[in-house]
Amino acid sequence: VFVVLEGGDGAGKSTQQRLLADWLAESGAEVVLTREPGGTPLGEQIRALLLHGDHVAARAEALLFAADRAHHVETVVRPALERGAVVVQDRYLDSSVAYQGAGRDLAADDVRRLSLWATHDLRPDLTVLLDVPPQVGAERRGGVHDRLEREGADFHERVRRGFLDLAEAEAHRYLVVDASLPADEIAGIVRERVAPLVGG
Ligand code: C5P
Repeated sequence: VFVVLEGGDGAGKSTQQRLLADWLAESGAEVVLTREPGGTPLGEQIRALLLHGDHVAARAEALLFAADRAHHVETVVRPALERGAVVVQDRYLDSSVAYQGAGRDLAADDVRRLSLWATHDLRPDLTVLLDVPPQVGAERRGGVHDRLEREGADFHERVRRGFLDLAEAEAHRYLVVDASLPADEIAGIVRERVAPLVGG
């Protein structure tokens, strides 16, 4: 079972990832916690290139995220799914559609196809969108830590809209949660949706 957490910066993805993993582990399931960009040694190098460089051309950025994803899926995610593990992942292809597509103005469909090519069409069973206004996200994460976070308010508004449009278009695999709710309440909503996927 492949569960992905998505959302803008400061939405609380890593907190929810941990809460969900702890709950899944209680039932004895093998749980793999991972993230993009990053998640493999090569991925961590790509992450550093993406986050700490200066300007990166939009298409180069899209290709680097896709390269990270291709390697991560082949070496970590697919093997875990094949073993029967539950993979709980921070960001996946919808981040690319939202950030490189809606945010950078590349065609969303090109970005999606690039990602699907990179992953041999691996799609999540469930994508949890932690939706938060960019302003609130910015306050929560307390300052700017990387190149993408330096982007202006319009960029982050477009990204948020990009995620919400995806959630609407592919509603069957989406759970949208108001990320301004208390963390334990969000965790409860997520668990309820995940339970049937893991046989609960
Ligand atoms: O969520 P995390 O902090 O790991 O993401 C790292 C940075 O990369 C964030 O600033 C996020 O906005 C950005 N990002 C992006 N495009 C993606 C995935 C992440 O711009 N496809």
